[in-house]
Amino acid sequence: MASHYTLAEGCPYASNVTSVQVRNGSGGGLVLLQDTQLIETLAHFSRERIPERVVHAKAAGAYGVFEVTHDCSDITSASFLNTVGKKTEVLLRISTVGPERGSADTVRDVHGWAMKLYTDEGNLDWVFNNTPVFFVRDPIKFPSLNRSHKRHPRTNVPDANMFWDFHVGNPEGIHQLMHLFSDRGTPASLRHMNAYSGHTYKFTLEDGRFKYVKFHIKTQLGVKNFTRETAVEVAGENPDYLVEDLYRAIEEGNYPVWNVYVQVMDPHEAESYRWNIFDMTKVWPHKDFPLRQIGKLTMNRNPQNYFTDIEQAAFSPSTMVPGIAPSADPMLQARMFAYPDAARYRLGVNYQQLPTNAAHSPVYCPFQRDGFMNFSTNYGDDPNYVGSTLRPTTFATATNGKGRVASTITEHEKWVGEASSFVTSVTDEDFEQAAGLWEVLGREPGHQERFIGNVADHLRGVTDARLRYMVYELFSRVKVSLGTRIQAATEASLM
Ligand code: NDP
Repeated sequence: MASHYTLAEGCPYASNVTSVQVRNGSGGGLVLLQDTQLIETLAHFSRERIPERVVHAKAAGAYGVFEVTHDCSDITSASFLNTVGKKTEVLLRISTVGPERGSADTVRDVHGWAMKLYTDEGNLDWVFNNTPVFFVRDPIKFPSLNRSHKRHPRTNVPDANMFWDFHVGNPEGIHQLMHLFSDRGTPASLRHMNAYSGHTYKFTLEDGRFKYVKFHIKTQLGVKNFTRETAVEVAGENPDYLVEDLYRAIEEGNYPVWNVYVQVMDPHEAESYRWNIFDMTKVWPHKDFPLRQIGKLTMNRNPQNYFTDIEQAAFSPSTMVPGIAPSADPMLQARMFAYPDAARYRLGVNYQQLPTNAAHSPVYCPFQRDGFMNFSTNYGDDPNYVGSTLRPTTFATATNGKGRVASTITEHEKWVGEASSFVTSVTDEDFEQAAGLWEVLGREPGHQERFIGNVADHLRGVTDARLRYMVYELFSRVKVSLGTRIQAATEASLM
């Protein structure tokens, strides 16, 4: 960096506080088109914003380290997991989903948990949420779901009619609605929040064997949430409360730590398991598949520059290392397309070259060349086509001599019976785990009452009485008394 002020092209300039003007005496003057600094300053300012993420726009971010705490080499060949004590640098971005980048971060919403692990075998992105399930299981519904949670096309404000109309029409989301309107819909701090893969993934071994896994990231500080009233109050007083809390804690050396676990399922168990493991609206109950710890995560460094480190960060479930592979969950498969596609739109085709997204391990991908804003050496004169005899491409090999394959190549998976089927119709089964969560809420005094208050407070914004009654019916399918109590609380508040 130069020791003195220059223009962006490096040319020294006399002053950056005044434009060049033709003056007549001490009064104002005419600015000149030849004032390159003025033109550049104004032109660059107009172009400072890049497209905002259509979802997950508001976020906090930090760096940290993932450390292996327990041996898991029996279930995965992932290099970053192969030795107890091994450490991997991590970038974490925690967001709300629906509202815009400047919105209040304590509003009721699912919270996104996007993590980039810069492993010694390439980047691994975990793009999780603070809930273990999701609203839909068919990816074609994803844009509709999100629009229904955003602003109404006419009024330009969030709209309860639209929100509940979507959920009445797509009742498979009931389990996730139960999470959203519980206390966990309004975390009191990002340091006191858990995260879950939701999706089923695979842990793979080099000989082709694999296990299905779900990831759980649990705060060592314990879960803490705001009540609805406090969340609203804090949103008004400090819309950046959660961002600031994480930043301050890390600045003060008060580093938050999470334990990282997996639930592990053998493929044969999946064939006869009562829940479709590729359905993102379902959990694997802990009693069936207990948590097994693999590591811990410590966030210990704030970004030096929010835009370059966090805003330009791009995460995708498709970014995977050998030893981890996708499952047939349709939502996961669709996200593996949609996230890199969003990054190409938002950041450009060479987004992987940006420092925050670049792998810390060696990269050789000469079949991805040129494009806007290519600031690499562009692989010089290496062949830009496959099958070259002039410079043959070499591939990494595993200890058993087989190729250490990219994790998305999962030809060893055998497709069998029900585990591979995908149910789209909504049945009473879809309400069973929601009912299970209702019982879990009952373990904590006052939580069920707060849940009813949270739903009623939102539902009272529905102006169409017919729709309100459809919502009461929806919750009655979880438990009849739940629907009745929500109805009583909502209608009383409208009197
Ligand atoms: P368990 O009875 O074994 O444990 C209940 C789990 O619920 C806890 O481990 C905790 O997960 C979570 N939990 C506790 N309080 C709340 C809350 N206020 N809001 C949301 N989650 C809470 O659970 P099961 O595995 O048999 O599942 C019962 C229900 O618990 C499910 O229907 C599901 O909605 C919910 N749950 C289950 C998870 C799973 O992966 N099995 C994960 C999270 C929730 P944690 O320790 O992760 O905080």
